[in-house]
Amino acid sequence: MKTKERVDFDVAVVGGGPAGMMAALQASENGLKVVLIEKNPNLGQKLLITGGGRCNLTQNELDNKKLALKLGKNGQFLLSALSRFGVKETKEFFEKQGLKIKVERGGRVFPVSDKSIDVLNLLQNFLKKNKVEVLTNREVIGFQVKNKLIEKVLLKSKEKEISARHFIISTGGLSYPQTGSTGSGYKFARNMGHKVVELKPSLVSLKVKEDWPKALKGLTLKNVEVSLWQNKKKKLTRFGEMLFTHFGVSGPIILDLSKEAVQLKEKGKLILKIDLKPSLDLLTLDKRLQRDFKSKKHFKNYLPELLPQKLGNLLVRVIEINPNKIVNTISKEERKKIINFLKNLTITITGSTGFEHALITSGGVCLKEIDSKTMCSKIIPNLSFAGEILDLDGPTGGYNLQVCWTTGFTAGCGQFT
Ligand SMILES: Cc1cc2nc3c(=O)[nH]c(=O)nc-3n(C[C@H](O)[C@H](O)[C@H](O)COP(=O)(O)OP(=O)(O)OC[C@H]3O[C@@H](n4cnc5c(N)ncnc54)[C@H](O)[C@@H]3O)c2cc1C
Repeated sequence: MKTKERVDFDVAVVGGGPAGMMAALQASENGLKVVLIEKNPNLGQKLLITGGGRCNLTQNELDNKKLALKLGKNGQFLLSALSRFGVKETKEFFEKQGLKIKVERGGRVFPVSDKSIDVLNLLQNFLKKNKVEVLTNREVIGFQVKNKLIEKVLLKSKEKEISARHFIISTGGLSYPQTGSTGSGYKFARNMGHKVVELKPSLVSLKVKEDWPKALKGLTLKNVEVSLWQNKKKKLTRFGEMLFTHFGVSGPIILDLSKEAVQLKEKGKLILKIDLKPSLDLLTLDKRLQRDFKSKKHFKNYLPELLPQKLGNLLVRVIEINPNKIVNTISKEERKKIINFLKNLTITITGSTGFEHALITSGGVCLKEIDSKTMCSKIIPNLSFAGEILDLDGPTGGYNLQVCWTTGFTAGCGQFT
């Protein structure tokens, strides 16, 4: 019988995404023997598609408290790690390795080249320079644990036995599973006694009940205010840009409220209201319409002044107004209906497009069981976690990759005794 090759390392990192690469790099900076195990043929498949292929690698927020606040109630957990490796250090790290970076609208940081491959190549070159052993095409199926300590990584291929003194799990979440993030790390964590906070798709498009939004597919609305309503109570408001799609609504502000939308939907009926004219209150809007309706234009010829064409057509249908009507004959009642359309365009949310299309997973390995200074498990002393697998997630804008750099760096800095 063929005996298995046995390889001993100081640190074994499972999952070659941004968090795993950063963890392996940092561990190897201290001269340790490090292995990075990835089931795909290549590292960083998801990193390549970030920021539409441009990689919004961080958010230009140098105040750690403000950055942590953006991550919601769990953001506090990251403060200690951010103080060691925050946005400033992340930018310095990439610039020191020769990546030119730029800051765009909303503090979004990108490589000047607009190419995520440049970020990936930089990380891979660094791994090579630090002699990290990268094993691709190797799927980890579990860990051998004895007396609350991990001894070995179990590979599906069974060709090797990989033992190490310390292990880091950075297998990502459940979103975009085609990139390799299929959630296996959650199973490993549970098997070793960790609690996993309920997993939900986040930064995800929303599906709607009505057919009319689908007919508007491709239409982008800028400077609108959308709010989520449940049981006649306003739960959340966002201002900015949204988009109609073939299944419902998407775009920056929809993604940013999607986490709450997914949670609220589980509790009952959920309504999304769009204010198409948020800068005008009801009275001012009414005055403007009264002024505009003094002319002798046909309503259909006036509409482009008010709305994009597709929405104008919808308005005519919804309020059942004759488009050939001369505007100075529009009644008070009709004007009220127009105002209601403009200020309260209402859509029923039926759910999200799910993990398949979500940018991030909310929920994950429970932070109460993780030491925030080291990312080390409080249950298995020679195990740490990094990246999306943790119960940490933020809005769009580079926050989620920053979580990876910060937790990856911190996990890679461990004492590994
Ligand atoms: C379309 C899209 C765009 C995004 N854009 C941005 C952006 O611009 N800015 C931003 O901040 N965030 C963005 N994000 C989120 C960001 O990509 C994630 O936060 C980040 O990739 C998580 O990194 P990670 O290392 O934790 O996990 P992942 O990137 O998911 O990497 C985990 C790795 O582990 C491997 N793996 C899993 N299980 C096993 C196993 N059993 N054995 C071996 N290997 C395994 C996987 O194959 C994968 O390579 C985007 C996400 C998506 C989907």
